[in-house]
Amino acid sequence: MAEKSVTVRCPTCESTLEWSQHYPYRPFCSRRCKLIDLGAWLDGSHHIPGAPWDDESLDTPGDSNDEPDRV
Ligand SMILES: [Zn+2]
Repeated sequence: MAEKSVTVRCPTCESTLEWSQHYPYRPFCSRRCKLIDLGAWLDGSHHIPGAPWDDESLDTPGDSNDEPDRV
Protein backbone atom coordinates (compact mmCIF):
# COMPACT_ATOMS: atom_id res chain seq x y z
CA MET A 1 0.00 0.00 0.00
CA ALA A 2 1.24 3.40 -0.86
CA GLU A 3 1.79 5.76 1.96
CA LYS A 4 0.26 9.09 1.28
CA SER A 5 1.74 11.90 3.25
CA VAL A 6 -0.45 14.90 3.67
CA THR A 7 1.07 18.15 4.70
CA VAL A 8 -0.80 21.01 6.25
CA ARG A 9 0.19 24.44 7.34
CA CYS A 10 0.07 25.53 10.92
CA PRO A 11 -2.53 28.33 11.13
CA THR A 12 -0.48 30.09 13.75
CA CYS A 13 3.10 30.09 12.55
CA GLU A 14 2.45 28.86 8.99
CA SER A 15 5.10 26.22 9.14
CA THR A 16 4.51 23.09 7.16
CA LEU A 17 3.88 19.92 9.06
CA GLU A 18 2.95 16.39 8.23
CA TRP A 19 -0.56 15.22 8.99
CA SER A 20 0.50 12.32 11.12
CA GLN A 21 0.68 11.07 14.65
CA HIS A 22 3.94 12.94 15.00
CA TYR A 23 1.86 16.06 15.41
CA PRO A 24 -0.87 15.42 17.96
CA TYR A 25 -1.86 19.07 17.85
CA ARG A 26 -2.44 19.19 14.11
CA PRO A 27 -3.33 21.25 12.22
CA PHE A 28 -1.08 23.10 14.61
CA CYS A 29 2.58 22.21 14.70
CA SER A 30 2.74 22.32 18.44
CA ARG A 31 0.75 22.75 21.60
CA ARG A 32 2.04 26.26 21.84
CA CYS A 33 0.60 27.24 18.47
CA LYS A 34 -2.72 25.68 19.34
CA LEU A 35 -2.94 27.64 22.56
CA ILE A 36 -1.97 30.82 20.76
CA ASP A 37 -4.73 30.33 18.22
CA LEU A 38 -7.26 29.45 20.88
CA GLY A 39 -6.25 32.46 22.90
CA ALA A 40 -6.61 34.68 19.88
CA TRP A 41 -10.15 33.48 19.29
CA LEU A 42 -11.12 34.01 22.89
CA ASP A 43 -9.50 37.38 22.83
CA GLY A 44 -11.57 38.37 19.81
CA SER A 45 -8.50 39.50 17.98
CA HIS A 46 -8.31 36.57 15.60
CA HIS A 47 -7.87 37.54 12.01
CA ILE A 48 -6.71 36.10 8.75
CA PRO A 49 -3.05 36.91 8.18
CA GLY A 50 -2.54 39.12 5.19
CA ALA A 51 -6.15 40.22 5.00
CA PRO A 52 -6.98 43.86 5.47
CA TRP A 53 -8.88 43.55 8.68
CA ASP A 54 -9.04 46.24 11.28
CA ASP A 55 -11.66 48.03 13.28
CA GLU A 56 -12.23 50.61 10.59
CA SER A 57 -12.97 48.09 7.85
CA LEU A 58 -15.64 46.57 10.04
CA ASP A 59 -17.56 49.83 9.93
CA THR A 60 -17.78 49.84 6.14
CA PRO A 61 -20.31 47.22 5.04
CA GLY A 62 -20.08 45.84 1.54
CA ASP A 63 -16.34 46.18 1.37
CA SER A 64 -15.39 42.75 2.61
CA ASN A 65 -18.71 41.21 1.67
CA ASP A 66 -18.94 39.18 -1.53
CA GLU A 67 -22.68 39.65 -1.66
CA PRO A 68 -23.71 42.94 -3.27
CA ASP A 69 -25.87 45.23 -1.27
CA ARG A 70 -29.29 45.14 -2.95
CA VAL A 71 -32.01 47.61 -2.21
ZN1 LIG B 1 2.96 26.47 14.51
